[in-house]
Amino acid sequence: MSEKTLFQKIADGDIPSDMVYEDDQCIAFRDIQPQAPVHILIVPRKPIPSLRDLVEEDKELMGHLFLCAARIAEEEGLSDGYRTVFNCGEHGQQTVPHVHLHLIGGRQLRWPPG
Ligand code: 5GP
Repeated sequence: MSEKTLFQKIADGDIPSDMVYEDDQCIAFRDIQPQAPVHILIVPRKPIPSLRDLVEEDKELMGHLFLCAARIAEEEGLSDGYRTVFNCGEHGQQTVPHVHLHLIGGRQLRWPPG
């Protein structure tokens, strides 16, 4: 069996985290290095390395991540808006090779990103 990803270890409780939500398809926990007052990672239990590795059968799962993001944003009181981001690959500055949706909010964000 291949080695667990960092986020699988968090899902399994091998690494502690500040979990805010979980279900049979995904987990959501606070980023260890938050870029805003609210910075939560929404991660599918399925260890898809990056957006480049998505397959047809992942469509519903990816939609589920966005629905969870919207619900968590509401629970976190982000009524003025927020940002959702998937970093992908080297230019996208993805550092953990397990697909994850960043939910960032709680302050005025800028555009374009760096
Ligand atoms: P990426 O750069 O791949 O898009 O995002 C990875 C995110 O995971 C980063 O924002 C980083 O701070 C976060 N991260 C890395 N290691 C840990 C960890 O052990 N626990 C938590 N909660 N977040 C982590």
